[in-house]
Amino acid sequence: MEERKRMAGLMLRNVAKLYPNGGVGVKDFSLEIEDGEFVVLVGPAGSGKSTLLRMIGGLEEISQGDILIGGERVNDLEPRERRVAMIFRNYMLYPQMTVYENLAFGLKLAGCGREEIARRVEETAALLEIEGLLDKPSEQVEGIDRYKVVVGRALARRPEILLMDDPMISLDGEMRRQMREGLAGIHHRLGVTAVYVTEDASEAMLLGNRLVVMRDGAIEQDGTAEEIYHRPCCRFVAGYFGSPAINVIPAKVERDGDRVIFQAEEHRGVFTEEAGKALLDGGYQGKEILVGIRPEDICLDPESIQRWRENAIRACADACEEDEDGTYMTFRIGDEVLKARVSGETKIQPGDMAELTVDSSKIYIFDKDTQKAI
Ligand code: ADP
Ligand code: MG
Repeated sequence: MEERKRMAGLMLRNVAKLYPNGGVGVKDFSLEIEDGEFVVLVGPAGSGKSTLLRMIGGLEEISQGDILIGGERVNDLEPRERRVAMIFRNYMLYPQMTVYENLAFGLKLAGCGREEIARRVEETAALLEIEGLLDKPSEQVEGIDRYKVVVGRALARRPEILLMDDPMISLDGEMRRQMREGLAGIHHRLGVTAVYVTEDASEAMLLGNRLVVMRDGAIEQDGTAEEIYHRPCCRFVAGYFGSPAINVIPAKVERDGDRVIFQAEEHRGVFTEEAGKALLDGGYQGKEILVGIRPEDICLDPESIQRWRENAIRACADACEEDEDGTYMTFRIGDEVLKARVSGETKIQPGDMAELTVDSSKIYIFDKDTQKAI
């Protein structure tokens, strides 16, 4: 019986990667991931996600800093000595082999005996609930089961850390959806420490308990999906998550009696007491800021308009578009453009004037120069 306490957290301390051509892959990157945690690294192309994953896996030399797995510094260990498994973008199963053989392959290479292989393959298959597939040729396995086999192959050798670099990027929408749903459950059961990389903001939000948002080789924000969406630390993070993207309007901070308001080119709104205080304390009175309003926070119903009277504005409906989350409409107020999520049954037609409003507590505020949230 293996009684050893698993201690396979991952710690990155001031890790940097400078490529020989002068390119900066990752800079001064520090992150702690607990044993069994599932973390999603998310950010645009070129933000350093793959570089980081390759350094953890030992496929890329570390220019600076330390990587610790289960408390042990692994900078100088070979990939196979690190007890890390990786799943890449274009993962493939060995098509001629059965599922069993696919799972056994790495174990054979590692020199495990027949009985040990059989035991580990069966354990892994049970964990992933694919016991019934073991005798099938892998080319006949599809959908989420196929992904489970890929994960199973990576896990059969009992890595302490599972690294996944955008494994779903080549799949079509429906398949991605199925996989996302399956993946969360799989990882919950496995309890293996996992780092999942994706460029796709909505995928990250659906998968992750904890998201680490990357940009230009550094961490922009580290938090739960809820925190990242509702309390973005800066304009970039606010704009990266959410579709259509958050509306951002330049405006000036002014006082109106004892209230603090924003005055944009074409419309105005009242800040909450708390936000108003933060703006005054920060010396923003009379200064330009950026006001952010998410499309789903814009209300068109009479009740909300009544309730948020002071923030209401008349706008001209422009284009109406559909996406996977429903319908949204573009409104114009002079030169200002606002995208708003609307009900599919809306009677508003392009060209119509409509009244819109927003709850003051749903207004995001960013510094115009630093782009940081206020
Ligand atoms: P991501 O996976 O987030 O798209 P990468 O880790 O691939 O980002 O790249 C991060 C940065 O490092 C980019 O600016 C990229 O151009 C640079 N980079 C990546 N690989 C190399 C390499 N082999 N040589 C030089 N620069 C590289
Ligand atoms: Mg990449």
